[in-house]
Amino acid sequence: AIPLVMSRSTSIAATNGLIIRDNQAMENSRKIDYVAMDKTGTLTEGKFTVNGLQSLDSSIDNEKLLAIIAGIESGSSHPIASSIVQYAKDQNVESVTLDDIQAIKGYGMSGTFDGNKYYLINMKYLNENKIALDKERVQSYLDQGNTISYLVLEQKVLGFVALGDRIKENTVQFIKDLKARNITPIMLTGDNKESAAIMAKQMGIDEFRAELLPEDKHQVIEQLEASGHHVLMVGDGINDAPSLAAATIGVAIGAGTDVAIDSADVVLYNSDPSDIIKFLKLSHNTYRKTV
Ligand code: ADP
Ligand code: MG
Repeated sequence: AIPLVMSRSTSIAATNGLIIRDNQAMENSRKIDYVAMDKTGTLTEGKFTVNGLQSLDSSIDNEKLLAIIAGIESGSSHPIASSIVQYAKDQNVESVTLDDIQAIKGYGMSGTFDGNKYYLINMKYLNENKIALDKERVQSYLDQGNTISYLVLEQKVLGFVALGDRIKENTVQFIKDLKARNITPIMLTGDNKESAAIMAKQMGIDEFRAELLPEDKHQVIEQLEASGHHVLMVGDGINDAPSLAAATIGVAIGAGTDVAIDSADVVLYNSDPSDIIKFLKLSHNTYRKTV
């Protein structure tokens, strides 16, 4: 049977934007000394706007560049993708139809058109595959915290699209509240280092790891746990599910995927990270009464 105090807390939780799927999470909350957070969709809105789009090669103009990029993105459900597809519509640019569109996890997408295989990928991919880029051309976008995807054909960068995301309204206060509770916030992201550094600074986060593949995020959690820390991990994507499972407490953003929700102990159904503070307070009060 659920103790009276516990069931009362569960209904209080519901009025605070929390669904507690595993009651053990409340008891474990007192041990938490790290809160690890996915960036996109967790700390930020996950709704991108196109801030720049530019050809870097004489073989292609901006319109054709957008037509191919939007064509590739029509095969993706990533938040970056829907914003690019919408942008092309707004610009009255008809997207190209590509074959064999595929996701390249942690890097971007690829697709074939006219017998050519195009890649829409990030800087990490360029670096690992030794694809040359004149960084000067994108520096101003990097300095403003943009996420940049590059269109590549035959090891050559044809152009790029730069996208900006907004920090959620309550994120900055949430980070302050964690620090006040002596909990270390750490941001984990697949995004580029420059963008991650700028966003982290704006949010008041001192520790972050960037250019992570989903398995890298999982590894960071495992390492923290193995070195005696107790981590609460919050994320929203399919990619985040293994990390949520590896943490002492896994928290899913309610607007995220079903997969993330299935592997979570707690769900924030208003998608507001600061509801984690409510969870910590509620857990504290519950266990003060029962113990
Ligand atoms: P995160 O949730 O931390 O942003 P993801 O694994 O979803 O991590 O994405 C990591 C990076 O991979 C993104 O920052 C982006 O550079 C690239 N990427 C992923 N999906 C796409 C896509 N559909 N279009 C363009 N870039 C993408
Ligand atoms: Mg994500």
